[in-house]
Amino acid sequence: MPIPKPFVILQPVSEETALIMKVRSILVQETSQYQEIAIAEFTEYGRGLVLDGLVQSTEADEHIYHECLVHPPMVAHPDPRKVLIVGGGEGATLREVLKHGPVKRAVMVDIDEKVVDLARRHLGTMHMGAMSDPRASVLIMDGLKYIAETEEKFDVVILDLTDPYGPEISKMLYGEEFYRRVSSIMEEGGIMVTQAGSSFYYPETYDMVLSNVRSVFPIVVEYNVWVPSFGYAVNFITGSSNVDPANIAAEDVESRLRARGVTTKFYNGRTHIALMNMPIFRRLSH
Ligand code: SAM
Repeated sequence: MPIPKPFVILQPVSEETALIMKVRSILVQETSQYQEIAIAEFTEYGRGLVLDGLVQSTEADEHIYHECLVHPPMVAHPDPRKVLIVGGGEGATLREVLKHGPVKRAVMVDIDEKVVDLARRHLGTMHMGAMSDPRASVLIMDGLKYIAETEEKFDVVILDLTDPYGPEISKMLYGEEFYRRVSSIMEEGGIMVTQAGSSFYYPETYDMVLSNVRSVFPIVVEYNVWVPSFGYAVNFITGSSNVDPANIAAEDVESRLRARGVTTKFYNGRTHIALMNMPIFRRLSH
């Protein structure tokens, strides 16, 4: 039975707010053992991945999210050779990491084989073939288990998971114990970053994640960037023992990007400074 046109996806921003997003067609609708997976053609945002009803990324603005997740910690690290990505099913985080010339090995660990397979087939504009790069290893595994079992050490760890207030499968990967394990698999001088959902709409959850990172890492930096298809400014939190992304000049960001052959659409030296100085979105209590 054809769905009446135009139809929309009601995307929750919080329990009280939602985006109404017009959809041209639903390309894929499947259920894995972990989550509801959809790939939709949005009239305003192009093709996008939706997990459990929450937009993860769309062609129109995923570059904002993935460039701001990846490049501030990568640029802050003087020589990132080995990078671990936990989550990042679309492959766009991997795409951005592999832009950095010094990267010799990038391991991407996602729990859901269906998400990765569907992304490989239907989200080519996002992964751009990154998952087939000879430097990349894509593993299908729970990130919690991988971090507990790996003997490898990494210069940069990127946690690109579903939201901390989202599905159960990622909740444990925002806890203090998990961050302690992340810290134990980081090389000396390493840095980690996690996406942390929305400090405006889920202040308690955000503060819990922030306090867990602060319990483990001496240098913690918060930043956020507006992502139109999310309907909020997404938060990022970095943790390190001695790398401080808030303490880099714009010209040093630019020279590192140039030296490493990194080209971007949204991120550059001035954007870096803006990100590091933009206040964190917090609601006024009412
Ligand atoms: N860019 C999205 C965002 O922040 O809105 C998130 C990126 S991606 C779609 C989130 C990924 O986290 C999904 O592919 C999901 O399968 C993966 N994931 C969730 N829990 C996980 C876990 N415990 N271990 C590994 N991957 C996990």
